[in-house]
Amino acid sequence: MNFAIIGATGNVGRKIIEVLEKSDLEINNLHLVASKKSAGKKLKFRNKEIVIEQLEKYDFSNSEITIFAAGSEIAEKWVPEASKKTIVIDNSKYFRMDKDVPLVVAEVNAEDLKKHKNIIANPNCSTIQLMLALKPLHDKFTIKRVIVSTYQAVSGAGKDPLDELFSQTRDYLDDKKINSKNFTKQIAFNLIPHIDSFVEDGYTKEEWKMENETKKILDNNIKLSATCVRVPIKTSHSESVNIEFEKDYDLALVKKILANAPGCKVVDEHNDGGYVTPLEAEGSNLTFISRIRKDNSNKRAINIWVVSDNLLKGAALNSVQIAECLLGKFKV
Ligand code: NAP
Repeated sequence: MNFAIIGATGNVGRKIIEVLEKSDLEINNLHLVASKKSAGKKLKFRNKEIVIEQLEKYDFSNSEITIFAAGSEIAEKWVPEASKKTIVIDNSKYFRMDKDVPLVVAEVNAEDLKKHKNIIANPNCSTIQLMLALKPLHDKFTIKRVIVSTYQAVSGAGKDPLDELFSQTRDYLDDKKINSKNFTKQIAFNLIPHIDSFVEDGYTKEEWKMENETKKILDNNIKLSATCVRVPIKTSHSESVNIEFEKDYDLALVKKILANAPGCKVVDEHNDGGYVTPLEAEGSNLTFISRIRKDNSNKRAINIWVVSDNLLKGAALNSVQIAECLLGKFKV
């Protein structure tokens, strides 16, 4: 197989290279594509140096599978043309709610890939990790409503915002003037309850994405309300999740189901340090579930804490796993 990555120099693109490097996929040629600014530079893949190509000059028929990680505007402009020549797996939000485009989490709804017409969308990072925890619980107890608050890492916004976190942190400690270019307010030593743009009802598009993507992937009947917050850490998104079921549940069975959830690991010791933090999740392919407990205000609800590396399962890993599903190589 030949693969291509559009946006290969970005946070997600570079992670896709790492994930492909470790995967069992047989890759004859990997094409790395980015903007004019990066064209001609080199990146390493399996001990070979690959020259980065410029998107405008790239021939999409070079590869059977092309993973886009270059944002919505690039996806809107280039994916329709690319999909005439290659299967596209797109990381941007642009095609996610298109009814002809499957929105897939490998462990959750890979069967939706059967309907693809050469474009497949990777869900939003904060949605993917939530789906891994919700799916097996929904299968058993039928989820009625979810209330989620996110604590999202700065790497989720891209490489320029991440550089801004580093420089602001340095400037803050050196007592220098803080400049904010990529965020609406200072992100270092702060947090910002605003990700993506606002929509009319006061929610943000990031919150809207969680609600709508959950309905598309899992079940249109699930009600979900989200508050998405950017926090000043590098990698891994965390989520505080309240889940209300249609049916009465048994907490021991909830724990057993989560312990067996594909792609997940439960770390839940209810004592000092018996939970997973974003730093510990960084670099892991797993989604971690901690703080599993009854909601004492609602007998049909539970609370959990879900943490996952946003660049891995939240983006690069799931994109590569979609490719593995297409090729019949995905192993849970
Ligand atoms: P990023 O770090 O800012 O990288 C953007 C990439 O797109 C770079 O490779 C850049 O190339 C390329 N690019 C930008 N403008 C281009 C142009 N005009 N022509 C060709 N290439 C161009 O962004 P990211 O965080 O990797 O995100 C990429 C996509 O994945 C976005 O749609 C994002 O929403 C989505 N996503 C991200 C995450 C996450 O956790 N980061 C999770 C899920 C989904 P140059 O280096 O040459 O400019």
